[in-house]
Amino acid sequence: MVLHLRGTVVIDDEHEVGEAWVVDGRLTFQRPTLEPSAVLDGWVLPGLVDVHCHIGLAADGPVDPGTAELQALADRDSGVLLVRDAGSPADTGWVHDRADLPRLLRAGRHLALPKRYLRHYGRELGAPQDLPTAVLEEAARGDGWVKLVADWIDRDLGADGDLTPLWPADVLAAAVAAAHAVGARVTAHTFATESLDALLDAGIDCLEHATGATPEHIDRIAAAGVPVTATLLQIAQFEAIAAQGEARYPRFARRLRELHARRYQLVRDFYEAGVPVLVGTDAGGTLGHGRIADEAAELVRAGLPAREVVAAASWRTREWLGVPGVGEGQSADVVVFDADPRLDIGALQHPRAVVLRGHVVARA
Ligand SMILES: [Zn+2]
Repeated sequence: MVLHLRGTVVIDDEHEVGEAWVVDGRLTFQRPTLEPSAVLDGWVLPGLVDVHCHIGLAADGPVDPGTAELQALADRDSGVLLVRDAGSPADTGWVHDRADLPRLLRAGRHLALPKRYLRHYGRELGAPQDLPTAVLEEAARGDGWVKLVADWIDRDLGADGDLTPLWPADVLAAAVAAAHAVGARVTAHTFATESLDALLDAGIDCLEHATGATPEHIDRIAAAGVPVTATLLQIAQFEAIAAQGEARYPRFARRLRELHARRYQLVRDFYEAGVPVLVGTDAGGTLGHGRIADEAAELVRAGLPAREVVAAASWRTREWLGVPGVGEGQSADVVVFDADPRLDIGALQHPRAVVLRGHVVARA
């Protein structure tokens, strides 16, 4: 079967062509001898990437495979054809066997401590010192990534309860080194200011949320070339979380409100310092799947140029994750839009067609 892609086929920041073809599931820039059986017109982009998306997780913890499948389909139909899962309590390795579901890079289970993360989400270790061993176990289960919870509210402090780090700095350093020794990368959930230096000292590969970053941290993160997943849809919920915790944890509530109030400015500061800002929906806990266009729109609202956000949601992050995009002989994983989302981010909302492994899997 031959599919003709026509209009603007975006390859990367510097390259685009007027047409391409899909032959036996693979992309080619050479006109095939066979007549195409279908033509797709528009702006053709490498399949979108959601770098913080929990397939297999819902508000109360792990979900059954049928529910996980619906999550993955919602992501796919939004144009997301590559997911880094950022931690999942359910074993979703079976997704790899399904040609109709997005490509998935799993991070195993979130690593946390008892009472120091959302219940039923993470793997709660017996002691902080167990982290390096647990990192190796999750690295063996996952697809090249491990996810740590670096800070969370400490409710044992009562009314003084606030975000505090979970791991001593030396344990964190040993854990990241252990992952790197087996070729895995590590990302960390972090809301607090207090956990960032130890994460950076340890050589962390990516930061999730990073809402606590000070100007000094931003400089360090930029110098180290560590990407930050901004998760603005998630941070938008901080006001509601603060209101809920106000009575018992006033310090925590105050902190979340401050982080919420400065969220757009912080993302702008990251961008202006040269930090790669990644697009991740944080779907699967309290947020629904299939919302990459909403997260991208939030980043533009924060002040990032649409063309930067689209690059981060597509070819640039594919390359960083080691998954090919649009290229001769590569798997045809592309999304077709009616208008150029680099000029109008709203165009991401309604893909005209989604092509995964050469098959049109969704169509407007
Ligand atoms: Zn998350």
